[in-house]
Amino acid sequence: DPRVHGIAAAIRVVPDFPKKGIMFRDITTLLLNPKAFRNAVDLFVERYLGKDITVVAVGWQTEKCSTFHHSALCLRKIIHGTLLDWIATMNHNYDLALFVGLVVFTLHPGRGIEARGLIFGPPIALAIGAKFIPLRKPKKLPGEVISEKYDLEYGSDCLEMHVGAVQPGDRALVVDDLIATGGTLCAAMNLLERAGANVVEFACVIELPELKGRDKLKGKPLHILVESR
Ligand code: 5GP
Repeated sequence: DPRVHGIAAAIRVVPDFPKKGIMFRDITTLLLNPKAFRNAVDLFVERYLGKDITVVAVGWQTEKCSTFHHSALCLRKIIHGTLLDWIATMNHNYDLALFVGLVVFTLHPGRGIEARGLIFGPPIALAIGAKFIPLRKPKKLPGEVISEKYDLEYGSDCLEMHVGAVQPGDRALVVDDLIATGGTLCAAMNLLERAGANVVEFACVIELPELKGRDKLKGKPLHILVESR
């Protein structure tokens, strides 16, 4: 579909954000391009309209890292800085530099970024006539909730959903901007299915295939618009 090229071209890649070594796919530039933004929503709507989807759900987190995660990242930053200073003092010792490089690589922080499914979920839900459900971080929802904990690279996180938002037999589509390790989508699926919904498909604008997030989705289909290497 020629629209996909315009969408891919509108996504900016920001190196070393939010941490060194991460190539961040910035979808805010897609949102600045009304044609590409509309095409992204339209492509999803064309796929899901008339498929009897009754729920569109998104993970909606303002901050993904737990306190423990933050401390681990700070510690690694200090170690990282110290090692780099040390490398600078030892000219031309390539073997040692290679070893140190490997250690730094192993210690390197993973991704740990906000979720932006909220941007794409509501327009899709409205267009296909499905209800929209935000899955939020603990203590954000005012009513009675059910929770689903999930593991991050360091520490854990949690998603919550209002009791009664999903009815048994609801057919759910889980939407997010990007799938990296798949942890967020997997937690969303567990939460929805515990409440009796059937997760029919996952939909993301971008997939980072090298992180193998698909493998966490228990064989459920994942539909993406852009593959990013
Ligand atoms: P996962 O749980 O699959 O490891 O991470 C996916 C979540 O992290 C998504 O909610 C997504 O918003 C966020 N995320 C991780 N990396 C990026 C990135 O490079 N760009 C954007 N826009 N979001 C990211």
